[in-house]
Amino acid sequence: MSAINPHSDLAAAAIRGLAPYQPGKPSSELRREYGLRDVIKLASNENPLGPSPTVKTALLAAFDEIERYPDGACFELRDALASHLQVTPQQLTLGNGSNDVLVLLAETFLTERVSAVYDQYSFVVYRLAVQACGAQAHVSQANPREHAMPLGHDLAAMRALVDQNTRLVFIANPNNPTGTWLEHDELRGFLRDMPEHVITVLDEAYLEYARQPGEADTLSWLKEFPQLVIVRTFSKAYGLAGLRIGYCVSSPSIAELLNRVRQPFNVNSLAQQAALAALADQQWLQQGVAANAASLLQLQQGLAKLGLRWIPSRGNFLLVDFGSSENAAACNEYLLRAGVIVRPVANYGLPAYLRITAGTEEEIQRLLQALAQFADSR
Ligand SMILES: *Cc1c(COP(=O)(O)O)cnc(C)c1O
Repeated sequence: MSAINPHSDLAAAAIRGLAPYQPGKPSSELRREYGLRDVIKLASNENPLGPSPTVKTALLAAFDEIERYPDGACFELRDALASHLQVTPQQLTLGNGSNDVLVLLAETFLTERVSAVYDQYSFVVYRLAVQACGAQAHVSQANPREHAMPLGHDLAAMRALVDQNTRLVFIANPNNPTGTWLEHDELRGFLRDMPEHVITVLDEAYLEYARQPGEADTLSWLKEFPQLVIVRTFSKAYGLAGLRIGYCVSSPSIAELLNRVRQPFNVNSLAQQAALAALADQQWLQQGVAANAASLLQLQQGLAKLGLRWIPSRGNFLLVDFGSSENAAACNEYLLRAGVIVRPVANYGLPAYLRITAGTEEEIQRLLQALAQFADSR
């Protein structure tokens, strides 16, 4: 694309080499392109049950003030979130999705002269944020396929890439698109090894799904590791992906730096009120987490019957192995024609896989049916 873009030469050097983010195909686009009426989307790890019903009431009330600028400090939400998380409001930075927070971190700490470390199969926004700042990307090799945590982050490999110029390390736990996770002991060992000039960004977008009974909250590590930044979002388990709201928890001094860079009104008023309502309904959240566990199981059992294999996951999705890039691409095309959108991950360097979100029971049934028909058609 950039080669034929007549304005490319005018762009900053870092932008010339940048490949844009490829989102999951919207249902409306598939309906238009393929003339389908009934489309299901299992491509973007959204909560198939949506947010708490109380969110709608909050949004209708917030609508009456839509001509006003939002509260740039997110005072009410920040307070509620701080008390929910048992941190201070000064430790929180809110963003237009956690994507915004990840970009703020890059803008605040990266320049052309420093570097960031992330895993080859980690969330693509890390690469985009780092490259846009013109910083060096040091990309670590993931665990091999035969490893106990196949395609997962290799923390020793990441540590080996950290040097004098490293400012940020991005770790997703669990990771997207693999679903793989890291044990807390390994993570703490890694944090202990990090020099003081390195900020570790721990992205916990799927935390609510991944949390194990009795497991410590990583927020309790912040006192011990002042260079740790924990990123979370309302897009996944809280069901607010469309409103764009996420946040990070850090030392107050890191939050103060991020606050200098952030746009004054980066979180819109509807998102603030929706997040407040969603946060207050923890019962809805827990129901969604339980429903996801059931969906994942249903999906795994169905895939096993079809002889398909997947990467172990603690998210709300599975990375499914189709054996070859041709097979994965053919299956993706077959599913699209059947009105089922899943996520090709060739852009992540995983062309033989498709990432599939654990939708509702009916959605998974329909996906499995289409997968069975695809297998029969070969
Ligand atoms: C989905 C996801 C996010 C969340 O992005 P938002 O901008 O908050 O919607 C962040 N990190 C990872 C690894 C994700 O998969």
